[in-house]
Amino acid sequence: MVLYDRSAILDFPRFGIKIPAFDSRKTRTMDALHGLPDLVDRFDDTTTLEDLLRVHSSDYSRGFFDERAEDRFKAGFELVNPDGSFNRWEPENARCPLREMTPLLMKMQAGTYRASRIAMEGGFCHYLGGGAHHAHRDFGHGFCPINDSALAVRHLQADGVVQRVWIIDLDAHKGDGTAAIFSGDDSVKTLSIHMARGWPLDGSLPPSHPSWTPSDIDIPIESGEEGQYLDRLESALKSLKTSSRADLAIVLAGADPWEHDALPSTSLLNLTLDQMTERDRMTYMFLEEIGLPSAWLTAGGYGEDSWQVHTRFLRWVLPRRCQWD
Ligand SMILES: [Zn+2]
Repeated sequence: MVLYDRSAILDFPRFGIKIPAFDSRKTRTMDALHGLPDLVDRFDDTTTLEDLLRVHSSDYSRGFFDERAEDRFKAGFELVNPDGSFNRWEPENARCPLREMTPLLMKMQAGTYRASRIAMEGGFCHYLGGGAHHAHRDFGHGFCPINDSALAVRHLQADGVVQRVWIIDLDAHKGDGTAAIFSGDDSVKTLSIHMARGWPLDGSLPPSHPSWTPSDIDIPIESGEEGQYLDRLESALKSLKTSSRADLAIVLAGADPWEHDALPSTSLLNLTLDQMTERDRMTYMFLEEIGLPSAWLTAGGYGEDSWQVHTRFLRWVLPRRCQWD
């Protein structure tokens, strides 16, 4: 099952934001999958204040629904530099004020919960959205104002649908917010394979900063070690299996480790398209073999070509699941 909703996109240009994350990543993927019977193009969920309060602090959560919303987005999307100048933001070219982003963000991030529910019923769902792994309990950064994976886990646990979850984070950047939110929580195991350097962007953060919180399993890949990537991921998945169990896996299948990703901060990890596909296939097969339902998210991916990464994996996995070819 692939889940997508055209109303659940942030449409950065509308807000004058120049982050190179384009709708084409999702629309071209959907176009390339046209004809498959297992595509869902609408969902009705949205993220409520009650949902936010299961993960984020009260003050931080409530700020999305009052006059502080603009500050939440400026920080989450890193739109203002320390000297006050704007970063990838041209408010004079915006068609909407930033504060109007709240309902869009709440809808988009609710897709992760919906995909998880679908996965629990059918075994697999890939949501074309979600994966905001840099959002912490009381602050956002790295284009992530709220942490949808954490919101989905807490919502599912509140529903009584799951007790234990694995979060397998394959994005180029370390899943620092997710690691910090679930640190010390035995019900959620976090695995992150990522660039050894380059995130957080500000390497001078003090050692006590929550962004340095380790995941349960961290696999830092140095620049030039791409040839070891798949072997190290395979070992990490095995150790996840031997050290814990789960009712659901949430997989952040970020496209940004790809060598053609357009975001400068991803340049320290350069997997080929074949390696990207093998990364996803290996992870999928691992989960299928142990019979664990999985909800997949697109996470990071920048430039007009990143749809190719998701499309290649989905064109392999969907026929496998629904006998379409
Ligand atoms: Zn990323």
